[in-house]
Amino acid sequence: MPEHQTPLIATISAGLVLAFIFGLLAHRLRIQPLVGYLLAGIVVGPFTPGFVADQELVVELAEIGVILLMFGVGLHFSLKDLLSVARIAVPGAAGQIAVATAMGTGLALWLGWSVQAGLVFGLALSVASTVVLVRALQERRLLDTERGRIAVGWLVVEDLVMVLALVMLPAMASASAAGGGGSWLGIVGSLALTLSKVAAFVAVMLIGGRRLIPWLMHYTAHTGSRELFRLAVYAIALGVAFGAYKLFGASFALGAFFAGMVLGESKLSQRATEEAMPLRDAFAVLFFVSVGMLLNPAVLVEQPLAIFLTVAIIVLGKSAAAYLIVRAFGYPHETALTISASLAQIGEFSFILAGLGIGLGVLDGQERDLILAGAIISILINPLLFTVLQTRARSQASPDIQEGSEERPRVSSATSGEVQTPAAASASAISAGHDVLVGYGRVGSVVGKGLLGSARDLLVIEDREEAVEEARRDGARVVLGNAADPEVLKLAELDSAARLFVTIPEVFEAGQIVQQARAARPDLEIFARAHSVDCVRHLDKLGATLTVSGEEEIARRMLASR
Ligand code: AMP
Repeated sequence: MPEHQTPLIATISAGLVLAFIFGLLAHRLRIQPLVGYLLAGIVVGPFTPGFVADQELVVELAEIGVILLMFGVGLHFSLKDLLSVARIAVPGAAGQIAVATAMGTGLALWLGWSVQAGLVFGLALSVASTVVLVRALQERRLLDTERGRIAVGWLVVEDLVMVLALVMLPAMASASAAGGGGSWLGIVGSLALTLSKVAAFVAVMLIGGRRLIPWLMHYTAHTGSRELFRLAVYAIALGVAFGAYKLFGASFALGAFFAGMVLGESKLSQRATEEAMPLRDAFAVLFFVSVGMLLNPAVLVEQPLAIFLTVAIIVLGKSAAAYLIVRAFGYPHETALTISASLAQIGEFSFILAGLGIGLGVLDGQERDLILAGAIISILINPLLFTVLQTRARSQASPDIQEGSEERPRVSSATSGEVQTPAAASASAISAGHDVLVGYGRVGSVVGKGLLGSARDLLVIEDREEAVEEARRDGARVVLGNAADPEVLKLAELDSAARLFVTIPEVFEAGQIVQQARAARPDLEIFARAHSVDCVRHLDKLGATLTVSGEEEIARRMLASR
């Protein structure tokens, strides 16, 4: 079948296959896979020879990724969370948008563009990408922390501003073309209408959706059909997102976020997250492919100075504004830095604005290329910003570390309940021959409670707040953080440990932990948890003394009690 008859299949296949190949290559070269995804986009894009994927289709497919991502984020959010961060997110986002738009307009005027072009350009530089932000927070396990919630709240406000801007811009363009004062009244009218439609959507979701959606999920769960449950997750995420867009004029992302949020209060949200994950990741990858496709690499050599300044506004200007605003609200230095870093990029909203600007005759191709180049470069720089942040935070001395900055690895002592910083922790004497337990969930908490009866001290590494609380209540010392992270694992003082129990379910992360521990201590007793024969082999190969496969043990118990 010729490929032009199946553009959707051709686009998905080419996008995913190339993203996979380049992503794998990037991984081998020890760079972020997303560099590979962007490259894949450039390869299937119209500016390089060979196969050209359907640009509009890729952008639409990427939008599905945005919907599923925001749905997943919503699942972690409650209305209470949203209201609690609104105090900072609303003025923060508004302030940052104002500053970035002003800077962008300034640059545009300096480049000799019209004021209108400047405004659209500035606005495009002011809104961060959902995909980039959510992925960055997810990768670093920051989504469930206070700073993560502020960043997401901020994003939701930006999304709302975008919805308004998309309504306002065409109205403004026609008003200024007509030159009449009457049309300005029309703008205010259409703004008010959009706002009330979005408010109506939120009200419908919070009143009706809040009852209907969890009910529907529970009902589906009780049918016992996994297929139907999966279908329910996708139907709700995509259905509500599309309805929000079509009926209420909100954005897909906003719709999906609220769908997730109302479902998040139900007990099934954990399962829903698991179901939404695989498709979400595949489509989010297509987002990066779509960005790569849009870029004309020639612009990089044609206007280097303009690009440099554009990137400076996105990465430095916006960050400085966000940092100052967050600090002004009394948040710690680190919270402000993380929020600034997560917002120091642009993406899908900016492309929509650029497209609209071109449609209205306000922007031309060259200006759009600047926005695209700014997006690609800022997306590439973004992970580096986080790396710098993390290294900086770790190399800092303890006096600067604030209590309440949740995701820094910390050790808390069971007796005093007080939080210790890494520096203080390494100084504190964890009695020689202590046990280290990674994970305090269904498996780890049982192991932990058992070990606490023994004479040895127990040190638990956990990254979930509630589990940390439980371990602390049970009397263990606790390190809060991802145990696969070498800096976190260091805090467990493996040098003097007697045994290490790795009870987390994710085999790749468990493997990283076992491998590091084995390298640090060839004689340490290491117990690990697995789910299959392959996982057992993997963990044993990396150095586990004994790997226990849950499924096998269940089978044995069943046989034993015959
Ligand atoms: P369960 O599967 O119920 O035994 O729970 C596993 C526990 O391990 C959960 O409480 C997770 O928060 C925790 N966990 C998973 N991965 C990590 C990790 N890399 N570092 C620290 N804790 C983890």
